[in-house]
Amino acid sequence: MVHVLRNALLADGRTVDITVQDGKISAVGAAGSPLPAESTSDDLGGRLLLPAMVEPHAHIDKALTADTVPNPRGDLMGAIEAWISASDRGQFTHDDMVERAAAALTRLLLNGTTAVRTHVNVGGEVGASYVVAVKEAVKRFEGLMDVQIVALTHQPITGNDGRGNRAALLEAIEVGIDLVGGCPHLDPDPRGLIDNAIKVATDAGLGIDLHIDETLNPSMLTLPIFARAIQESGFAHSVSASHCVSLSVQPVAQQVAVAKEVAAAGISIIPLPQTNLFLQGWDHPVSMPRGITPIDVLRDHGVRVAAGADNVQDPFNPMGRSDGLETAALLVMAAHQLPPVAMDLVSNAGREVLGLGRVEMRVGDSADFFAIAAPSVRGALADAPRDRMVFRQGRLVARRSESETIAR
Ligand SMILES: [Zn+2]
Repeated sequence: MVHVLRNALLADGRTVDITVQDGKISAVGAAGSPLPAESTSDDLGGRLLLPAMVEPHAHIDKALTADTVPNPRGDLMGAIEAWISASDRGQFTHDDMVERAAAALTRLLLNGTTAVRTHVNVGGEVGASYVVAVKEAVKRFEGLMDVQIVALTHQPITGNDGRGNRAALLEAIEVGIDLVGGCPHLDPDPRGLIDNAIKVATDAGLGIDLHIDETLNPSMLTLPIFARAIQESGFAHSVSASHCVSLSVQPVAQQVAVAKEVAAAGISIIPLPQTNLFLQGWDHPVSMPRGITPIDVLRDHGVRVAAGADNVQDPFNPMGRSDGLETAALLVMAAHQLPPVAMDLVSNAGREVLGLGRVEMRVGDSADFFAIAAPSVRGALADAPRDRMVFRQGRLVARRSESETIAR
């Protein structure tokens, strides 16, 4: 089956027809070329065609609870306490979580995201039950999106008090997850949590994605400890470190030294501008820090970096449109990334972190795209038009439009 996406504006300014076969680009030709025999087509009408976006760090179990789980303090511990106490009260039923997680994925897909890595709380009173609910939601998107699940363990993981949480992690693996998660900076023994994650992930043949140093406290710096532990273990699967906030408050020489260790360990870094801008810095009334990991230093030393939104409309982040363009715009304004780099950080870079190939609009690339009514990448980020067409393996899987009227 041959399918043609006609009249696509590319970021380099060309207008082309893209032919797709078996989910991959089989030809890129000038717009208006004769269509292959027995082909089908979609007319993009000159919309800008970009690689599909990736959300490499979501929490779809928590999404869309901002009104029912308030966080009046606004900071990270306020959010964690609000969430855990609501969870322990039994506020989140199975059906509620399935519907919210599905709604979060729907929003992402409509905006042009076809691959998502979501963390899901595991441990405490709820054991692995939230993984069961999220998997039920994910099932509705088979063939539409690639979704990876990370078990985000409650703390502590180490010591006697961590026994229940360690058991819940093993239970989550039985239910079916893709990566082992956790928060070393919140455990009494950060290295112990890291070692446990490496051991459990090695035994299960899974990747690791930890919440690392989500604090502006410069003395909490577990990222180099994580990098050394990964290197010492010879860990063979995908490894990511999300947040890495405290790296942003280290002197440049220290940032460089850590970046080199992270690159040598093959750890991908996932900055999360929106949620960190909200949660961090409440106790800094002067020169409020941004709380975003130093992206340029990491990239300059060979570290793979991809950006995400983290939480969406929950106690950790009351805002969020589930739109990678929103994350990219924040990367421009709050992390000084220029628009093409910001766009790459929320699309192709994320594909690399999730183990999907880059989409460079070349023959052989996966035909995972979104088309948007914008004249350029910069224009797409600035206006974030709602008019979008989303393609996975060449098939139109989502479409949203907007209408505007001025009555004079
Ligand atoms: Zn997170």
